[in-house]
Amino acid sequence: MSFKQLGLRTELLSAVATLGYTAPTPIQTRAIPVILEGHDILGGAQTGTGKTAAFALPIVQILSQDPPAKKKRQPRALVLVPTRELAAQVGKAMQDYGRRLSLRATIIYGGININAQIIKLNRGVDIVVATPGRLLDHANRRTLDLSRVKILVLDEADRMLDMGFIDAILDVAAFLPSSRQTLLFSATYPDSIKRLADELLNNPQLIETARPNQAADGVTQVVYRVERLRKRELLAHLIKKEDWRQVMVFTRTRYGADKLTEQLITDNIAAAAIHSSKSQSIRTRTLADFKRGSVRILVATDVAARGLDINGMSRVINFDMPDIPENYVHRIGRTGRAGEKGVAISLVCDQEQAWLVNIERLLNHKIPVKRLSEFQPKNESDPDIIAAKRILKEKAAKKQKQAFAESSKNSRKPQKTGKPRHIEKTRKTARKQGAGKNIRNKKE
Ligand code: AMP
Repeated sequence: MSFKQLGLRTELLSAVATLGYTAPTPIQTRAIPVILEGHDILGGAQTGTGKTAAFALPIVQILSQDPPAKKKRQPRALVLVPTRELAAQVGKAMQDYGRRLSLRATIIYGGININAQIIKLNRGVDIVVATPGRLLDHANRRTLDLSRVKILVLDEADRMLDMGFIDAILDVAAFLPSSRQTLLFSATYPDSIKRLADELLNNPQLIETARPNQAADGVTQVVYRVERLRKRELLAHLIKKEDWRQVMVFTRTRYGADKLTEQLITDNIAAAAIHSSKSQSIRTRTLADFKRGSVRILVATDVAARGLDINGMSRVINFDMPDIPENYVHRIGRTGRAGEKGVAISLVCDQEQAWLVNIERLLNHKIPVKRLSEFQPKNESDPDIIAAKRILKEKAAKKQKQAFAESSKNSRKPQKTGKPRHIEKTRKTARKQGAGKNIRNKKE
């Protein structure tokens, strides 16, 4: 299958050729024709599958075929995304494709002065890519008129719900025309997504290119067992020994990200943290430093990392395991993108063992364990040994139970004495009443 066969205009074909895309990815092959036909979509696409182009290309094509809006602040397509970084990435793709067909895309997110955004909107806009909160702010202030939106995209919808954007999304939807095309993309399908889809989509086509909750094929996953207090030491050891560059390390909290970053810098490793307490300008600069290579290790929280598109990242490290199993899939989706190879390494301490089990249940397979003798936790607390002992114990208990069931079954069975049934019955009653007890006692 080629991009041409998907029915894209020549301007867009040359845009993808410039980007070096030789053939469409599976989500592009399946979604582009359906979107061009005007259908709603419920897309089960993971990060790194090429889903941005899967919706951006057909949207630009559809808008290019219609006359522009009459007023300047009336976008015809709206893309809602969970984070500023993703807004910047998707917005850039829309700008690149749109420019070729004289369409204007604007990026809108919170954390920066709203007036500059208003000035941009006043110049005219065809496509808005935005985070829900700030977009709602514009809609309420009437600095943006959403009444002409023809296509709505909810990108990484599961993450938007995780981040508490449900009310903002529904409030934004109330500003939109009810007859519109809606495309919802989500890596996972919790009930909340199903309810949102029921609310916003109209007879959607289900497009799933990879099983939801499944990690990308090209990602090799590994677990290192380590004591909690030795994780930093192990991480620094691996970074130095294997000369890692461009590695993304996940922590569960912002505090944890800052602390680890400081410790890595103390170990002479160029590291920087990216999380939601950092200002937008610092986040942008950190990301640029990381992409340039002057920062080797980017320490991130789940929220900040979501949607970052960094090409060629070879490794993702789970310094802290995520307590939400789906976040593991999102995290490791930062590597092995668009068919490339990647490695996801998890540093797991005893306290996180239960989370690991939940993740493995979600993935439907065990993650191989690698051992480093100098970092091996003490036997007592080695979860493998604990698990093995538990299995042995369970087996023994099962055997005992079976033996007990067997023996009580036998004792209930009439003994085959060859005597007629009524005599057996009388014997049984007698046994119940204690006959032969004295004799037995005597023997004992
Ligand atoms: P996305 O899932 O949209 O974040 O895309 C993940 C990565 O795949 C980005 O770096 C894209 O530039 C790249 N990509 C998207 N479509 C293709 C394609 N057809 N061929 C090669 N790379 C692609």
